[in-house]
Amino acid sequence: MNIHEYQAKQLLAQYGVAVSVEIPCKSLEEVRPAAEKILAGGSPKVVVKSQIHAGGRGKGTFKSGFQGGVKIAANADEAVSFAQQMLGNVLVTKQTGPDGRKVQTLLLAAAAKIKKEFYLAVLLDRVTSRPVVMVSTEGGMDIEEVAEKTPEKIVKETIDPAVGMMPYQARKLAAALGLKGDLIAAGAKLILGVYKTAWECDTALVEINPLCLVEVDGKETLMALDGKISLDDNALYRHKNIQEMRDLNEEAPLEIEASKFSLNYIKLDGSIACLVNGAGLAMATMDIIQHFGGNPANFLDVGGGATKEQVTAAFKIILQDPNVKGILVNIFGGIMDCNVIATGIVAAVKETGLKLPLVVRLEGNNVAAGKKTLAESGLTLITGDSMADAAQKVVKAVGN
Ligand code: ADP
Ligand code: MG
Repeated sequence: MNIHEYQAKQLLAQYGVAVSVEIPCKSLEEVRPAAEKILAGGSPKVVVKSQIHAGGRGKGTFKSGFQGGVKIAANADEAVSFAQQMLGNVLVTKQTGPDGRKVQTLLLAAAAKIKKEFYLAVLLDRVTSRPVVMVSTEGGMDIEEVAEKTPEKIVKETIDPAVGMMPYQARKLAAALGLKGDLIAAGAKLILGVYKTAWECDTALVEINPLCLVEVDGKETLMALDGKISLDDNALYRHKNIQEMRDLNEEAPLEIEASKFSLNYIKLDGSIACLVNGAGLAMATMDIIQHFGGNPANFLDVGGGATKEQVTAAFKIILQDPNVKGILVNIFGGIMDCNVIATGIVAAVKETGLKLPLVVRLEGNNVAAGKKTLAESGLTLITGDSMADAAQKVVKAVGN
């Protein structure tokens, strides 16, 4: 699960990470009072920031033609006029794809006097199976480009999860950012705070881009001016407060529906829907469809012990995708009883009045009973004897 910048910063602030004074606004009416409050707090300017679950907002463009999802306003009037251009409009950035995202929340923040922009991230290194804290002096811009062209500008510390991040590691990274004197201690404190946020909130990624050297009352200090947090869904049950940060506006409607039934569904662009048990088999099914010249419309793993209700829900979900021209059910019954799937298919087809070609390949536990259920149902479906056979049949059926 992803959360918004303003929510990420709320979590970071709880762990002692310095962030700017900020007020989230969900409607236009809230913008002027928020801007006035920030300006009254002593900030000469106020930043209006579009909140969407994607980066690159600063350089993004609204579908209306308005440039920039992050704008600095000199006064409350200007903040309101920026907000009018952003709220309810679709912002397209490098990360959103051409469809963009509708902005439904804004963040009003005190404008910081930035002297330097750095990059800081905590993520999991799958090779060492350990958290890694990364910094770079090349913040603010495209970090992927830095990693590709000048990888030496990214400095990493691998953390032993048994002991956590050591203060010396944080100081090393602060020094790598070129910080001097008191700022090394301040930088180390901030980095440790970000690591603690990552560890205690069970994040998959925390990214601060930019982490800034800013001037406050003539003194230099460090501040997180952007924040991205992705959470490990498997650990979300431990964090009620974070679960409440979920923003369904940012998720694909069919994926939300699927999550209600504990189905693992991801919508894709093709025309052949697949319903499979097990993530590995689901991936292999998508591959074989592609191999025989088709295109999968989705990834769908109904899990090892799916019920009839889940199978029915899965059918309804894949049928809501207007691109779907045919369905391939590929079940290997290890734990799964093939007859449960067969019963679910029959119920779902009857309930949804399915007209599209449906190819079913069943194998494994109680397969004979499953095939009998399908045969006796009176439904017109195509059976596949093997994965290859089933994939070829569905590709052909859709082609016709
Ligand atoms: P994104 O990464 O989606 O483009 P950011 O939050 O990083 O969005 O904002 C883009 C740029 O805007 C930052 O790199 C920074 O230069 C500037 N910026 C963001 N927040 C502030 C702020 N509070 N004060 C001053 N400048 C800011
Ligand atoms: Mg950023």
